[in-house]
Amino acid sequence: MSDFLGHCRDAIGAANVVSASAEIAPHVADWRGRKNGKALAVLKPASTSEVAQIVRLCARFEVPLVPQGGNTGLALGGIPDERGNAIVLSLTRMNRIRGVDPFNNTMVVEAGCILETVRAAAASGGRLFPLSIGSRGSCTIGGNLATNAGGTAVLQYGSMRNLCLGIEAVTADGEIWDGLRALRKDNTGYDLRDLLIGSEGTLAVITAAVLKLVPIPASKRTVLMALRSVEDAVHLLELCQRRCGAMLTGFELMSSYALDLVARHFPAMRSPFNRKHPYCALLELSDPESDQHASALLESLASAATELGLLLDAAVASSEQQSGALWALREHIPLAQAAEGGNIKHDIALPISHIPGFVQATNQTLEETYPGCRIVCYGHLGDGNLHYNVMPAEPINPAIEETISRLVHDGVARFNGSFSAEHGIGAMKVEELCAYRPAVELSMMRKIKQALDPQNILNPGKILTDPRP
Ligand SMILES: Cc1cc2nc3c(=O)[nH]c(=O)nc-3n(C[C@H](O)[C@H](O)[C@H](O)COP(=O)(O)OP(=O)(O)OC[C@H]3O[C@@H](n4cnc5c(N)ncnc54)[C@H](O)[C@@H]3O)c2cc1C
Repeated sequence: MSDFLGHCRDAIGAANVVSASAEIAPHVADWRGRKNGKALAVLKPASTSEVAQIVRLCARFEVPLVPQGGNTGLALGGIPDERGNAIVLSLTRMNRIRGVDPFNNTMVVEAGCILETVRAAAASGGRLFPLSIGSRGSCTIGGNLATNAGGTAVLQYGSMRNLCLGIEAVTADGEIWDGLRALRKDNTGYDLRDLLIGSEGTLAVITAAVLKLVPIPASKRTVLMALRSVEDAVHLLELCQRRCGAMLTGFELMSSYALDLVARHFPAMRSPFNRKHPYCALLELSDPESDQHASALLESLASAATELGLLLDAAVASSEQQSGALWALREHIPLAQAAEGGNIKHDIALPISHIPGFVQATNQTLEETYPGCRIVCYGHLGDGNLHYNVMPAEPINPAIEETISRLVHDGVARFNGSFSAEHGIGAMKVEELCAYRPAVELSMMRKIKQALDPQNILNPGKILTDPRP
């Protein structure tokens, strides 16, 4: 192995081959503290050709590699396993914005660019890069693409797949594929870009991308609406979409218990309402016309919702600061849950019409089977994506975790949903993929993996089981 690391040092410089265990530690630890892997070293190339050299060395010496961006992923995809025979390939030094084209509404960025930096660069050119997720200060574009990240603006702008026109990547045998095409129409055979998006580092290493930009809306309005039930939230969503169309850019659901957790762990953040309400919906309107137009739309929406008996209370943000405070409530739910500890997370997607039925039936089964359990239900209702997390009264062990997740995911399957909406499979949901996806689908995935990475060096054991012992 010293031979391998010696070649790596020659390729990217000794300072960029990190092998001291204290420096490796943050790269092999899961964000939620659930798992720690081991690695031979962390390699930090600064260019696409350096990535290609490292991948060629990995292929030659049969060393597995785990691509990593900000290591904020929630499915254990970006850290190696405990065998200690893999390297972590950190893309964070590949952080250049290669160019912005305002007429084509695109920008070309390297994989290690932090999402927040990309959003700021787009804004300074008068454009919006719409991907918005709580980890935006740490996660990278490469990670966003590899996980097909979603977030709070999917309703109008789509997930990462819809925000990317082209990709540059290094294949498993170390070839560079320049697919940085900035085209909105390009039907030239199999769509390799779409194949790599969401592939979680198992098919190629993404090194750069062409991202889609949109005009910055003239006005943005945020409102928190208090509701009686999930069913009322679904009716409110339908009303908002009918009245606001594409101007509705965010529709998040938060249960009262989720907001209680935020208040407990972040006392400065409180719901603006005097009373507790079973659910709240956080809405964002992005209006291309003006503040006045947006305010009038919001007023008519609120009165229509009141007339239909959907609205219990509402708090309209009247400044950017107030809007930020409402969004902070939503974005601090995962952080409050991490601080509270002991919860079993589920990132599920359902047809929106089935959400009330799923929540009612699953809450009931869980409460009967695990008396005293608490359910933290929140998420991107507008996309049919819920974070449905369970905190049992008893301490969590692997057996309870497995039984509760099986119960929730079986419910999801009954309601024609998906057990992974936006976090991916990683190393965490490999068994679920086998359990809930048809054999023919798994077989096609294995054939793709075998064709593109016959040596199985790219992130082995993620998405699909690693056939090696
Ligand atoms: C507080 C918080 C809130 C979050 N909210 C959301 C949310 O709303 N929506 C959402 O979708 N996710 C969310 N996430 C999850 C996470 O931030 C996203 O999955 C993000 O896209 C991961 O980016 P990353 O750079 O941290 O990737 P990493 O965690 O480093 O890696 C994730 C996966 O991508 C692969 N990968 C990374 N870079 C590359 C590359 N260049 N080429 C090939 N493969 C690569 C890794 O091998 C791994 O499989 C949240 C996470 C946190 C901590």
